[in-house]
Amino acid sequence: MGKIFIETYGCQMNVLDSDLIRSRMASQGWSSTEHKEEADLILFNTCSVREHAEERALSNAGMVRKLKKEKPGLVVGIVGCMAQNRQDRLFEQLPHVQLIVGPRHMGAIPRLVEEIRATGTRRIAVEDFDDEFIDGAEAVQSRAGGAQAYVKVMEGCDLSCTFCIVPTTRGAEVSRPPERIVEEVRRLAGQGTVEVTLLGQTVNSYGKGLKPVIDLGGLLRLLSGVEGLRRIRFITSHPSFVRPSLVEAMRDLPKVCKYLHFPAQSGSDRILKAMRRGYSVARYLELCDTLRREVPGIELASDFIVGFPGETAEDFRRTVDLMERVRFQNAFVFKYSPRPGTDAAALPDDVPEEEKKRRHQELLEVQERISRVKNQARIGRRLEILVEGPSKREGRQTGRTDAHQIVNFEAGRDLRGSFATVEITGATALSLAGRLA
Ligand code: SF4
Repeated sequence: MGKIFIETYGCQMNVLDSDLIRSRMASQGWSSTEHKEEADLILFNTCSVREHAEERALSNAGMVRKLKKEKPGLVVGIVGCMAQNRQDRLFEQLPHVQLIVGPRHMGAIPRLVEEIRATGTRRIAVEDFDDEFIDGAEAVQSRAGGAQAYVKVMEGCDLSCTFCIVPTTRGAEVSRPPERIVEEVRRLAGQGTVEVTLLGQTVNSYGKGLKPVIDLGGLLRLLSGVEGLRRIRFITSHPSFVRPSLVEAMRDLPKVCKYLHFPAQSGSDRILKAMRRGYSVARYLELCDTLRREVPGIELASDFIVGFPGETAEDFRRTVDLMERVRFQNAFVFKYSPRPGTDAAALPDDVPEEEKKRRHQELLEVQERISRVKNQARIGRRLEILVEGPSKREGRQTGRTDAHQIVNFEAGRDLRGSFATVEITGATALSLAGRLA
């Protein structure tokens, strides 16, 4: 049929969606290519969470105009969150684009591409989230030689954080039935996958609307029974849904990795309220204490937004205090930028850019210091890692521990996809170094 090239922006959900599109297109006879120049279909799978990601996708999509001129049969499409967010305005901005598909309509891509090729006219699929939602049962094993795989367990979000565009672009929350997920994970394990990462915007609210009643803790118990599977991860969690059943599953099930990424976003109650996050700092800290008490060895991770409208120096100080108090394994820090269509975009963006940059830098430095100290404390220990493949430095391999620490080590051969025990000999803020034990 032709060759497909996909450029992916944003989160792991988009990485998985791109894999699923490739897999669906492959079932129609399409092959994948790494080179835009030889493609017959170029898709930009986009992200709207930050302005920067949208601008980059727009600029790169603009640049393929030349290819389209040279090869008129080429179909160029914009899919994912920016497609849902900007809809047919993208046709005006980028006249060579013929296909626009939102995240909840990805299943229609093969049909729409065929229609465009047959008629030469444009197609758009962004109306009513009708759950032409991609069931991941056909997911490809995309990483570490097939040892790791992403599995979508839910899609969309029912919350309404004031800075976030996701509920608009991905729609209301829908959970996949547990039996479909178990079936998919069984199939993956049968093909050699040893680690799955369950994906969802608020993955720990999994189960809403399903009958019989089930939550993420219950799903983890079912998946723990899958033979051959060694590790289960899940991202991203929301503090409001860290329920006792999840804590118990993390405590009791050896296959469930002892790592929880649950974004705090701010350490100021005033800002959390303005963000409409639905929890207080005290509640967040209480959860951290419970997790550390109940799940020995657990590592915690967070996201933070600095420079949210109205954030004072005192609010920011409280965020630094929270970071110091919790001592996350890692934290992702973002400068606030208003996203059109969100409630926060109506608020004055009143923290000057220079001050946002300063707060961003300060928070990164605090986290770097904490991560370095935590990593240095691991020197001399023996840790089991799942090897992901060659590291950037020649002759070395890289892998991750159960608690998500990156470990680089000398290896004479490619150990990708296997488990190895490594003695830790060095540490930076970002990673550990070691030798095979
Ligand atoms: S929980 Fe908040 S930040 Fe996360 S996807 Fe939903 S609305 Fe966005």
